[in-house]
Amino acid sequence: MVADVAFDAPIAHPFSYRVPDGLTVVRGQRVLAALRGASRIGVVVDVRSDAGEKLKPILRAVEPAPLLDASTLDLVGWIAADSATSFGSTCLTLMPPPTLAPIPRSGAVAGDRDVSPPELLIGAGREARLIERIAGAGTTTLVLSADVDGAARWAQRLGKLGHVVRLDSGVTDAERSQAWRALAAGEAALAVGTRSALLAPLPAGATVALIDEHEAAHKPPGAPRMHTRDIALERARREHLRALLSSATPSVEMWWHCDSGRVRLDGPPPAPWPAVSVADTRGIAKREALTPALARAIRETLTARRRVFLGVSRLASILGCDECGVILKCESCAIALAYSPAGRTLTCRLCGTAVPLMNVCPACRGRRLAPFGWGAERVEHAVRRRFVSARIARFDPEATRGAKAEAQRKAALSADVVIGTRGALRLFGPASLGLAGFVSPDQLLGLPDFRATERAFGLLWAAAERVGPDGQVIIQSQNPGHYALDAVTRQDLAAFYKPELKFRAELGYPPFRRLAIITVAARGGPESARLADAVTAALAGKPRLTVYPATPDRRNRARRIVVKGHADLPRVLAEALEGADTVGAARSRGIMDVEVDPVEWPS
Ligand SMILES: [Zn+2]
Ligand SMILES: [Zn+2]
Repeated sequence: MVADVAFDAPIAHPFSYRVPDGLTVVRGQRVLAALRGASRIGVVVDVRSDAGEKLKPILRAVEPAPLLDASTLDLVGWIAADSATSFGSTCLTLMPPPTLAPIPRSGAVAGDRDVSPPELLIGAGREARLIERIAGAGTTTLVLSADVDGAARWAQRLGKLGHVVRLDSGVTDAERSQAWRALAAGEAALAVGTRSALLAPLPAGATVALIDEHEAAHKPPGAPRMHTRDIALERARREHLRALLSSATPSVEMWWHCDSGRVRLDGPPPAPWPAVSVADTRGIAKREALTPALARAIRETLTARRRVFLGVSRLASILGCDECGVILKCESCAIALAYSPAGRTLTCRLCGTAVPLMNVCPACRGRRLAPFGWGAERVEHAVRRRFVSARIARFDPEATRGAKAEAQRKAALSADVVIGTRGALRLFGPASLGLAGFVSPDQLLGLPDFRATERAFGLLWAAAERVGPDGQVIIQSQNPGHYALDAVTRQDLAAFYKPELKFRAELGYPPFRRLAIITVAARGGPESARLADAVTAALAGKPRLTVYPATPDRRNRARRIVVKGHADLPRVLAEALEGADTVGAARSRGIMDVEVDPVEWPS
């Protein structure tokens, strides 16, 4: 017998091995085999009757039985195809750590009964409602969290309903394998994990719950290169599972699913909301970090002995007008132009258009165009100068690691004023703040990414949820009439999604079109440029595809090509790229990378 084995490698085809006498392997089983001089774990994708005398033998089976059944392998095939990623990489990253103990094959068969459509829980108390649903369903439930900390928290919360097994890397490999085994044997009813648990065996009629659907952490770099939400929804559809999702500010894609009736929206009437106001900073933003309104609110909150959160963000490489608040944008893509002081140019990261730096604002003819915003350090300085006796801490968990991050976290927990980035908000529970102030969220609204507005909106909303109903949210902005700010002020999600979906439709962005970023990183800039030309040539003339000119990365080593297409984008890309020799070879050498439906735009 000969077995075809796929590996975690950027290679589309599997490798053939002889199955030695005395060993039986089947499709979906993990095996150990030699690949390029090393023994590696692969997954059997086919077994054929053939002597295979000249082939190398399989060394051994990793488990005595396959972990994935035929329908799960089909799902993996769909994920791989729709994300233009190899089957082996997709499959192996979705399997639990290898274990020597036997794992029974999942006895689950896809149920054929009607299941209610997926539901999205929003608004106050959404997590409590989710737990009620899980308790009320009485079926096996798998809860998927964006990260390991979240998984630990959910394991604890669900603990009051019964025994919870964990499938994430926050527990030992042995515990994870045991959890997978317990689910397969029908011995566990409550399981918690991250996206690595997406294929865990579940019986028919089970529930899959996805926490914080909008979190970018649901699509980290690497295989499986698809958003956890999309895999969970597809699995639920195929296996007739019940899907529950929760989010404070759903992704625009998800809201669109709700609009079109594919997902049911579960939102209670509005709960108490803090007073949200927008402070206009046009004309004063460059001189003073705090508007009089924000300074006054800080003083009042400190007097009342309540905590202040000041949201800051890293300085954006964009140019704005200090007089009228306009941010310089690409005319055809409507996203902010990236500013490069060295090159004295403004460049669109999507279509590659470059324009020379201008001296005069195109909107108001004012002469105060400048790099945008306030850094955390300058904000801290401004606050210290005005509030001498307050305990002030800065917390930037995205940029600090290890002991320093832990020290910052401790200081923040006992501070009166916390100056922090997005991740710092996680320190605070619902309604625990007296004031949340945003010094210059326009920096976020104007990032050179079509998702910038969605992100900024999510951050402002998350902050408002953490402020008590008797507290305040103050948003300083050069664009005080922006619909994202208006929606937060009015506690009205639809007031954000409606204009945002209109913008996406008009400009041809997701969910109405699909995007992919092809990155080629050869040994040097010239070689990358040559390869990028070959990719562009391979894609040229493909129907329903828009291919933008290749642009260099910051260090001028790699080249990026943005491609816009329709629902069939992954198939069109795969056909075009596999058909071209140089490109195919580059792909299998790992110097070419295709990211379909990117969530984070590379800087
Ligand atoms: Zn202007
Ligand atoms: Zn553009």
